Amino acid sequence: MSPQGHHWQKQPSWRILDTQFGAGDIFLDTWHTWREDADRPRLLHYVALCEQPSSATELTKYFANHPELAPLGVQLSRHWFGLMPGFHRFLLEQGQVVLTLCIGEPLSMLRAQQFEADAIELALPDIGKNVQPWFLKALTQCCRRGTRLVVRHWATDYGNELSNALSQCGFKINPEVPGIGLFDPAWQLKKTRPTTLTLPLPIQRCAVIGAGLAGASVAASLVRRGWQVTVLDQAEAPAAGASGLPVGLVVPHVSSDDCTLSRLSRAGVRLMLQQVGELLKENQDWAPSGVFERQIGGTPKLPSNWPAAGGQWSMQGHPEGHLDLGCGLWHPKGAWIKPAALVNAWLNQPGVTFQGNARVADVCRQGNTWVLSDAQGELLCEAECVVFSNASGAFDLLQKMKHPALDTQGSEPHLPSKQGMLGLLSWALHAESEKTGFTPFPVNGSGSIVTGIPTENGQAWFMGSSYQPESQPERSDQENHLRNLDHLEQLLPPVAQNLNEAFQTGALQAWKGTRCIVADRLPVVGPLDATDQPGWWICAGLGSRGLSFSVLCAELLAARMGAEPWPVEAKLARSLEALRA
Ligand SMILES: Cc1cc2nc3c(=O)[nH]c(=O)nc-3n(C[C@H](O)[C@H](O)[C@H](O)COP(=O)(O)OP(=O)(O)OC[C@H]3O[C@@H](n4cnc5c(N)ncnc54)[C@H](O)[C@@H]3O)c2cc1C
Repeated sequence: MSPQGHHWQKQPSWRILDTQFGAGDIFLDTWHTWREDADRPRLLHYVALCEQPSSATELTKYFANHPELAPLGVQLSRHWFGLMPGFHRFLLEQGQVVLTLCIGEPLSMLRAQQFEADAIELALPDIGKNVQPWFLKALTQCCRRGTRLVVRHWATDYGNELSNALSQCGFKINPEVPGIGLFDPAWQLKKTRPTTLTLPLPIQRCAVIGAGLAGASVAASLVRRGWQVTVLDQAEAPAAGASGLPVGLVVPHVSSDDCTLSRLSRAGVRLMLQQVGELLKENQDWAPSGVFERQIGGTPKLPSNWPAAGGQWSMQGHPEGHLDLGCGLWHPKGAWIKPAALVNAWLNQPGVTFQGNARVADVCRQGNTWVLSDAQGELLCEAECVVFSNASGAFDLLQKMKHPALDTQGSEPHLPSKQGMLGLLSWALHAESEKTGFTPFPVNGSGSIVTGIPTENGQAWFMGSSYQPESQPERSDQENHLRNLDHLEQLLPPVAQNLNEAFQTGALQAWKGTRCIVADRLPVVGPLDATDQPGWWICAGLGSRGLSFSVLCAELLAARMGAEPWPVEAKLARSLEALRA
């Protein structure tokens, strides 16, 4: 049994920090122990630092001779791709075992954390390099009083020196059991890192407003942690807003400077692929098709220092050399997804209740609970915590309630401003005569074309999507169809030629929706007030990338509510801070 196993029993969650992932043996052993333990915590977080990850093949090979661990190694290896520097999150066991692999120089990976561990696995091979006070000091920033310490391969020849260094930092080493200790400094603890919440919110009832990708994903993340969640929507059925999009693309954003958006989108795409792989029917509700990104009027923009391992995310050229697609990027991990299918799958998780025809018009405090009511003052729902996941509606509702988060006059940080962006997707069933020039994978870069999507009446193609600020007089559908045709001409000229007549005559179907976009084009995720135990939270502003961002945002929100490890580096996560303007 892993040494951690004896102490997590009967705890709701357990957070382990391992300073060296190595071959992954300690993690797999811990995961295996968790599976076998009837008194295991509901949620096991395992955060591991790693300078250089092994390949998926090495991972499976290493465990081939361990019958108990081999199946776990195989499971993990399925998601083991594109491991570039930074944090990578893996949701295993339906999200109840959460591995966060932090690739990079150990000290900076330690400093990028934002949680307090229940237990630390300190690896000795690291010690030679990292026994420097800075490393141990940074480690203490991830400790609470009582954090358990296990030093791997403790040996007497360096035991004393290490023991001294550890005790200077506040660890007490058990003289009876060398290598086992506790963080229990003689001095008062002082945190130097910014932290909004170190105590987890009690796990109770949560009301989530909005049953789109944002709200449903938040609900699924919270019920995994034991919350009872009611998701309310003004519409009768879920996915009535932008998330009713018939089909959308999930594809990493790439920029030559690997900007915040690019890094967040990769983290989000990884999490989304894990979720759809688990919850949706492949080739029916989603497909790992890959996506080709045309570089319209520009040069390919892979970052100059794109490491070889990153090539698994995106690479120059395209997989079918005979197709004349021009220059561009091939994203092998890109996929198409039907968002409504995913929303419904999330809402069907045990612990989630969907409440339709429930337009929230007011939220007010009564004792320890929040009361949500409609425009007639009728009670809709009561809960200890509320998440606003109703896209633009969240900003409107907060405005109507005069919430300080929307006060732009004072000096307090507030929510960034939002804008609604209208979009129309043109689509039709495939006709035999039209098939020429279609690619077997979606193409994006100037809008996007997705083909061969199964629908009730046969296979269909989708070309989208027009883009127009809600503040302008709305263009006609036909005008939007023609704009989509313009984009198609740039993406795939032969296909545009084939479909020209259908576009010109308007013999097409249209799906319309509104994206909620904030000023800096990044989602807003976090508490709406700066108290110790915030009751109001927001997850909105997913813009044109709800499929890339929804799982990441939900994981971040749930991590912040539960004082758990964050899914991305603290600095990156803070760029999504709700009150940031
Ligand atoms: C044309 C178009 C094409 C797109 N293509 C892509 C794509 O290819 N890839 C991609 O990743 N993203 C795409 N998007 C973006 C994606 O659809 C959104 O980012 C995502 O759906 C937003 O999810 P959400 O849950 O935040 O908002 P929504 O899905 O809009 O959900 C908000 C919900 O809140 C409800 N609501 C509002 N006010 C209240 C209230 N007061 N009380 C109760 N309920 C309320 C609404 O009824 C709605 O169901 C596209 C969007 C559009 C419009």
